[in-house]
Amino acid sequence: MTQILHSLSEKNIQSLCGNVIYQRGKEYFIDKRVRRIRFDGNTVIAEVVGNDVYEVEISGLNSVKKLQELNCSCSCPYEGLCKHVVAVLIHLYKNKTKRGVKNIGLDSVTKDELVQIISTLIKESPSLANRINILTQTRILNQKEIDKKLRSLFSDSIDYKSMNSFIKELNSLKRVILLAAKQDYKRARSIAEQIITHILNPNNYVDDSSGKLGDYLYELLELTTTLVKTDQEREEFTNTFFPIYINEDTGYGDTLGEILIKINKQNLTFLETYCLRHLNQIKTSKTKNKKQNLYRIVSLLLGIYDETNDPDKYIELCKQNLSEYDNMHLVDKLIELGRTKEALQTCLEIKKTRKVSPYILKKIEELKNS
Ligand SMILES: [Zn+2]
Repeated sequence: MTQILHSLSEKNIQSLCGNVIYQRGKEYFIDKRVRRIRFDGNTVIAEVVGNDVYEVEISGLNSVKKLQELNCSCSCPYEGLCKHVVAVLIHLYKNKTKRGVKNIGLDSVTKDELVQIISTLIKESPSLANRINILTQTRILNQKEIDKKLRSLFSDSIDYKSMNSFIKELNSLKRVILLAAKQDYKRARSIAEQIITHILNPNNYVDDSSGKLGDYLYELLELTTTLVKTDQEREEFTNTFFPIYINEDTGYGDTLGEILIKINKQNLTFLETYCLRHLNQIKTSKTKNKKQNLYRIVSLLLGIYDETNDPDKYIELCKQNLSEYDNMHLVDKLIELGRTKEALQTCLEIKKTRKVSPYILKKIEELKNS
């Protein structure tokens, strides 16, 4: 509502038109003769039912400084400020507190005053406190606020005992994502990514022996998959989380790999090409995480080939023997496909050429006996 309507009072309406017209206008208002009020920017238009139906138009709401400067017109024959216009002005005055926060002047109070007002309200009706609590917890925090909250949450070591309250705080952030998702899914996704990045930070000290943070992360990642909608967004998500995935050693790597596949489900060729490109780079590089990186990428590729039901590519990749469990995966896959002879032969070859794991020795026994 505009400043001018905000300053309306019975007294200053009366001073505009005199007592007789004012009383008539007020009767019209009380008789509910004002109807179809609509605001159009600077102007309010209404119908007033008298001997006929008259159209009242009052303009200059946002531009005039004094009430008498308002441009009032009515379709009735009366010259000057008529009872119809007065009825509309009284309607505006009586309803000014119903048209939202601005009408009660909250836009002009300072933050301290607002806190004071809310404290008074809570004293008057204590149940408001709960309601306000929920509203403040689920408002959409800005990026800085979320970052600050996450930093303080993760600054301490989280042990088994403090896990419950830690998850509670994280859940309140998840509610912020859900709220944001209703208005702006990109904003919601960026909040989710902020939280995921914090959880996967290798410098955290979190004792997740209860698995609660892992569960939370999985749910959060699932939620995030619903917020990644276009090819470009899938690519962005992959670019952000692939490097975290291949270096992950906090125990959430498999979860993250699963989600990378899930997000790219509509275009797994993209993810496959992406992985193969990085695989080739890392094969020839000398990074200190080379072993870990190769293991992660091979795992992801094997996951993709399972998803696309492509055992030939799966077997071919295992045979390159790029990472530590490839032999086991190869033997398991051959058995799964019913190629037991080939599986046994592979096991025997592994036994001949390499340091053999107890797993392979066990498989040899099983396969010989089957
Ligand atoms: Zn009139």
